[in-house]
Amino acid sequence: MGALTNWAGNIAFSADVRQPASVPELQELVSSAERLRVLGTGHSFNRIADTTGTLVSVAGLPKLISIADDTVTVSAGLRYGEVTAALQAEGRALHNLGSLPHISVAGACSTGTHGSGDANGTLASAVSGITFIGADGELVTLTRDDPDFLGSVISLGALGVIVQLQLDTQPAFEISQVVYDGLPVARLGSDFEEVFSSAYSVSAFTDWVDPDVMVWRKLRAGTPYEPSWLGARLADGARHPIKSMPADFATEQGGVVGPWNERLPHFRLEFTPSNGEELQTEYFVPRAAAAQAFEELKALGERIAPVIQISEVRTVAADDLWLSPSQGRDTVALHFTWIQDEAAVRPVVAALEEVLLPLGARPHWGKVFTADAATLRDCYPKIPDFVALAARYDPAGKFRNDYLNTYLPA
Ligand SMILES: Cc1cc2nc3c(=O)[nH]c(=O)nc-3n(C[C@H](O)[C@H](O)[C@H](O)COP(=O)(O)OP(=O)(O)OC[C@H]3O[C@@H](n4cnc5c(N)ncnc54)[C@H](O)[C@@H]3O)c2cc1C
Repeated sequence: MGALTNWAGNIAFSADVRQPASVPELQELVSSAERLRVLGTGHSFNRIADTTGTLVSVAGLPKLISIADDTVTVSAGLRYGEVTAALQAEGRALHNLGSLPHISVAGACSTGTHGSGDANGTLASAVSGITFIGADGELVTLTRDDPDFLGSVISLGALGVIVQLQLDTQPAFEISQVVYDGLPVARLGSDFEEVFSSAYSVSAFTDWVDPDVMVWRKLRAGTPYEPSWLGARLADGARHPIKSMPADFATEQGGVVGPWNERLPHFRLEFTPSNGEELQTEYFVPRAAAAQAFEELKALGERIAPVIQISEVRTVAADDLWLSPSQGRDTVALHFTWIQDEAAVRPVVAALEEVLLPLGARPHWGKVFTADAATLRDCYPKIPDFVALAARYDPAGKFRNDYLNTYLPA
């Protein structure tokens, strides 16, 4: 059998994964290990989860989904799709979801994973409590009133092994998803506010060369929509984010009303991609810099073209979590799905950073980037606080790995 790899297959992990069946067993493993990292569902595109020490998964722990008035307590290894189906069945909802329901809750929250929507913060912004196994093997629970909380939710695996999370919920709601073809690319900048405030969640897909942008609007059910809009027209059939790909695995479009959990992700839970022929990169720029960022990307269009599959523009509301890509500012997320050729992709990523970092861009922790530790400190102002917090919880560096030593050195 070959080495264990991440979802994209571009990272071979340095250790085999161990999957304890109980929290006490995992506590024992943590307290006796010299170096340890947790692997979620392996959807990150870099070495963030890797270790030469002990690699553990929390997917084998007893499954918990406990729904109270306006919260749900879940075991950390559950995939979003499992949690959301249970919530929907009880008439409850999360505020937002990422593009894929197969990603683990703890892994997503640990890296600042997000969906779209002007008023929607990162998925981690819904976390109201977190329980993890600390370096000494003991359980630690932090809630919003704890002074360490804001540094502990998006933690890149540096504080301990998360076994349980408590998330805010709200009454379940319905969404109708409509797709538009042919938004003139210039309007992405000139009509930015109108485009992105036009629905609960909006995604715009472009390759930065095609003059036509495809826009997915996820509307609260009952919101009217027009056959023509800002120069775009309703799509004549279902679409995949990459126009040439079959749309069978995409969540239902065409304005058909459905539950939030079956419309907010782009892909259906029952479609389980075990791997994907792609790499991903994403940068988060302040909203005020959106139009300029689009101009820079269009200017780089021919450079990007040989390696891009598709790019997606989304918006994310500000939050206070220290390592959040939208910490302290409303944000535009510029996502790139690349071909799976890291040698060809990296120079293009570096070229993107040359134009986007001066605009205040922050790289996604779980995707491909080339910025170094000093640059990241400029982008993420709370890194020094986070490094101090991690050193306090993990003085011997049990949860550190090459990724943390490189990008967030002690
Ligand atoms: C097809 C695809 C679609 C994606 N869509 C989006 C999107 O819409 N929005 C977005 O922002 N990102 C997106 N991503 C990126 C993805 O959400 C992040 O990389 C996320 O971290 C993956 O979660 P995971 O469970 O696979 O974590 P992993 O990649 O396994 O691990 C990520 C980090 O989390 C830590 N971790 C995981 N579980 C635990 C735990 N129990 N305790 C402590 N630390 C833990 C790991 O140690 C590591 O540091 C996408 C990725 C793919 C492949």
